[in-house]
Amino acid sequence: MKRLAVLGHPIAHSQSPPMQNAGLEAVGLAGEWSYEAIDVAPSDLERVLAELPGQGFVGANVTIPHKEAALALADERSAAAAAIGAVNTLTFTGAGIRADNTDAPGLLGALPLDPRGSQALVLGAGGAARAAVWALREAGAEVSVWNRTAPRAADLAAELGVRALGAEELVDLDGPGIVVNATSVGLGDASGAPRSGLKEFPFSADALHDRLVVVDLVYGAAETELVRAARACGATTVDGLEILVRQGGESFSIWTGLDAPLATMRRALRIPEP
Ligand code: NAP
Repeated sequence: MKRLAVLGHPIAHSQSPPMQNAGLEAVGLAGEWSYEAIDVAPSDLERVLAELPGQGFVGANVTIPHKEAALALADERSAAAAAIGAVNTLTFTGAGIRADNTDAPGLLGALPLDPRGSQALVLGAGGAARAAVWALREAGAEVSVWNRTAPRAADLAAELGVRALGAEELVDLDGPGIVVNATSVGLGDASGAPRSGLKEFPFSADALHDRLVVVDLVYGAAETELVRAARACGATTVDGLEILVRQGGESFSIWTGLDAPLATMRRALRIPEP
């Protein structure tokens, strides 16, 4: 059996095992491959990564809080992973650990338009925001980044060559065509109910309009307030579960060498086709 896993802390809420196992089954690999969730505390990551190949694991996704530490522990990094500074996909090869970042192509794959020439606003300055900023910039968008803690946005912007907005700056959404929430705002509590919403962002619900594409990386049991408000005013929306499918599909292809059965993976998450 070829084993795969998602490593995180906490990890019980992860939707990746049912999604990836449905994908493996759809391509006829269910008897040979399996995907599971493993809770790994930060202090245990290095030991666990050293042990997994000996236990039949051929790859792993890493999520909060391991994305940067895993990059440092890898023997080989894709150019994107190195530029972004965070990884979410590890492959255990005979030569060691290869690290990739599929958050970036996952975001681009989920966008309903070619971002070249568009103005894009990325909210956040953590690992997910770094991947979003890098992906949109590489794809030719004009990217601005805002973060609650302004110096982090300034550092990210300087490193990746985009524009930083001040924390108190009220953003005029007449300009940006694409808005990406890469903060954890809207992440549900244990019951899945969204904890906080639009008031944490540098614009109000009134500023949203029907010419925007609004992407929320956050997902939970309920729709986030951002996606709900954006949809209500006619904006095109992409939610966090569609992003999960896209980045998970990219990881699936890296490990198996096959196209990911995205429709099956969506059905496993009970989300509609975009
Ligand atoms: P992270 O490194 O911990 O970054 C968290 C970000 O959220 C920081 O920019 C932080 O700002 C901001 N933030 C937290 N609370 C806030 C608040 N109350 N108001 C305003 N900003 C706040 O996390 P990450 O790895 O980048 O992930 C961010 C989110 O994306 C998570 O919810 C994660 O689940 C989601 N994600 C989803 C997918 C997917 O497949 N759908 C993939 C990747 C990530 P400060 O710097 O001010 O603390």
